[in-house]
Amino acid sequence: MAKVSINLATGSIQEEELIVGIDLGTTNSLIAIVREDEGQRKPIALRETDGLTLVPSIIHFGPFGDVHVGQDARQHLLDAPERTIYSVKRLMGKSYHDVEDHAASFAYKVIDDHTDSLVKVAVGNQFYSPIELSAQILHQLKARAEHVLKVPVSKAVITVPAYFNDTQRQATRDAGKLAGLDVLRIVNEPTAAALAYGLGVRPDEERSIAVYDLGGGTFDISILRLSGGIFEVLSTHGDTYLGGDDFDRALVGLFKQQVPQFNTEDDATLIQELRLLGEEAKKALSHSEFFEGSIRGEKIHVHRHEFESAIRPLVERTLDSCRQALSDARLSTKDIDAVVMVGGSTRVPLVKQSVREFFVRELFDSFNPDEVVALGAAVQADILAGKNTDMLLLDVTPLSLGIETMGGLMDVLVPRNSKIPSKAGRQYTTQKDGQSAMAITVYQGERDLVADNRKLASFNLKGIPSMPAGLPKVEITFLIDADGILKVSAKELRSGVAQSISVKPQYGLTDEEVEQMLMDSLLNARKDMQARALVEASTEAEQMLLTTENFLQKNRNLLSEEEMNRTLSQMNTLRVALSAKEKNQIQAATEALNDICRPFAERLMDSALSEAMRGTKVL
Ligand code: AMP
Repeated sequence: MAKVSINLATGSIQEEELIVGIDLGTTNSLIAIVREDEGQRKPIALRETDGLTLVPSIIHFGPFGDVHVGQDARQHLLDAPERTIYSVKRLMGKSYHDVEDHAASFAYKVIDDHTDSLVKVAVGNQFYSPIELSAQILHQLKARAEHVLKVPVSKAVITVPAYFNDTQRQATRDAGKLAGLDVLRIVNEPTAAALAYGLGVRPDEERSIAVYDLGGGTFDISILRLSGGIFEVLSTHGDTYLGGDDFDRALVGLFKQQVPQFNTEDDATLIQELRLLGEEAKKALSHSEFFEGSIRGEKIHVHRHEFESAIRPLVERTLDSCRQALSDARLSTKDIDAVVMVGGSTRVPLVKQSVREFFVRELFDSFNPDEVVALGAAVQADILAGKNTDMLLLDVTPLSLGIETMGGLMDVLVPRNSKIPSKAGRQYTTQKDGQSAMAITVYQGERDLVADNRKLASFNLKGIPSMPAGLPKVEITFLIDADGILKVSAKELRSGVAQSISVKPQYGLTDEEVEQMLMDSLLNARKDMQARALVEASTEAEQMLLTTENFLQKNRNLLSEEEMNRTLSQMNTLRVALSAKEKNQIQAATEALNDICRPFAERLMDSALSEAMRGTKVL
């Protein structure tokens, strides 16, 4: 039986639960729902009275504390650039350090504090986090949906790029919470686009697809494997600074040749006017062969073929990314069964033609490319609301996740490319007698030494009861939920002492950084292996020295003078090898010391045993 609820505010009856799908985009955002239409469930983007479905992802802070979002904010890009915030998505989950190379490209002030803490945006004397700013956009979308649907909206599915890491996903979820939305699921944008077309929904369906997403400022290509209702991201590639804006700039370049008398230096308004005219021309050229316009009384004109020559190198760059993504997924174009087009810039005829020729496939492009991700999010919402066949959405982790162990080594619990949701656990123990706390530090990356990887979080498991070293059993569990958010828990199994955290990483990674980290790990594989071997040998040697010292302190009487000297001298040899950091010498000296000490241990056991047998000491 369907659940029915009555909205007390409006008096309307709401059948079942309404969950909306939201595409929180860099340039535009929008909200969609699934509706019953002639017996079929169909996703539609919500349209306000303005007739538009897209809400520009722009926030303007007025001088009197008034906040405007979307179309109303857009007009202030020209008159109050320092109070008008765009492209917030680029800042989500990032530190200033992550974005400093691009900070100058924002017309507003990104706080230039050279630390690893999360970035903020300054407007007047107020500071806003990207989470708060995104929440403003989400709040506007929620209000729009409530206005159109006349029911309260409190549950949502929000999409993020496939390469978003834990911090960025968590930041998106937090923004939703701040906007009064219960975010039921974070879904990858390419997965949503495929869902919009109903791809991968049938349980017997097996195919590989490419999702080509060219927006205003970013390009992403994702290769997905759809199998038995499961969506697996095989690879992603792209360019975080390539999109329709570059096409506009290419046109501005052509215009400037036609009006050389205009001096754009120091004339921000002229630059903006040219850019807006460039965008207008670009859009016109998507359906016409020729564009004519004017700027400050001067005529300009451009042919589609001129535009195409100007942007061809940019389109070629997107195809290079496609090649890379295919090679990462170990597939070739003939393995791809379908190509889904996403993003406003895929309307450019040269883009469509180039992608079609590259993959030699017909394109899935019948939906509005600006809306397709939100439509897919709505389909996912519909599935979650139980109105569609249930499906599991499976993604993979872009980098390995692990913890720091002795000597600064990375112990991987969840290897890169693991399917999520996933769970992994391993047992650890203490190094020192009576150790009551254990520091657990979580890292992300492919290198053997944690120092070369990225620290995500750390916490202390406290209250371990006093036990000799090696006796406590601390089980560490990594749980990555369906949204790709990592929860780490630690439990000492003998005492039951437990603690857990949701990883709130200190800062995010761009997809370039992920790539860089993977490259580094390949280039340094040999060096890392040697470093790991040295750390392992040294750790074992130090443990051996410690045990021997303890033994000598307590059991001197069991050893002859000569044995004592031999042991001390071998301990010295080992210390020298340790300080020389010579792995082979360390191993040889450790073994030699072990050989010397083994008979002493046996002797100790014998003496303990005979004392026990005499009844002088109870074991
Ligand atoms: P998105 O980020 O997906 O919303 O894409 C926005 C980009 O699509 C902007 O660069 C727009 O200028 C571009 N765009 C929108 N409509 C068209 C069109 N008809 N032809 C070419 N580009 C377009």
